[in-house]
Amino acid sequence: MTTYSGSCHCGEVAFDVTNDLTAPIRCNCSFCRRRGAMLHRVKTGEFCLKKGKDGLSAYGSRDFSDHYFCRTCGIHVFTQVDRNGQRSVMVNLNCIDALNLDAMTPQVFDGANLI
Ligand SMILES: [Zn+2]
Repeated sequence: MTTYSGSCHCGEVAFDVTNDLTAPIRCNCSFCRRRGAMLHRVKTGEFCLKKGKDGLSAYGSRDFSDHYFCRTCGIHVFTQVDRNGQRSVMVNLNCIDALNLDAMTPQVFDGANLI
């Protein structure tokens, strides 16, 4: 497993994620289409918010997901998902400088039709 460091644009919010990030997704729900993020689902224990907890705001577009973004620069950093008794974190891969997103082939996640 590799540990990657990521942050919002202004640096107020920073995190580490320990996962090889080999299964990126693009979600087609109305929120994800607008923000254009490439995401990766990880276990809650694989995501560590290092800095900026107080600088985050949450936007909940569904009752099972809270999208956290930096209050200063507005960048979405991660989404906390609690669905069907399973918790996970969707990390915005665009926040990780070490990744070459152009070399990754995301699968489409059909979030638009999630009930
Ligand atoms: Zn920021």
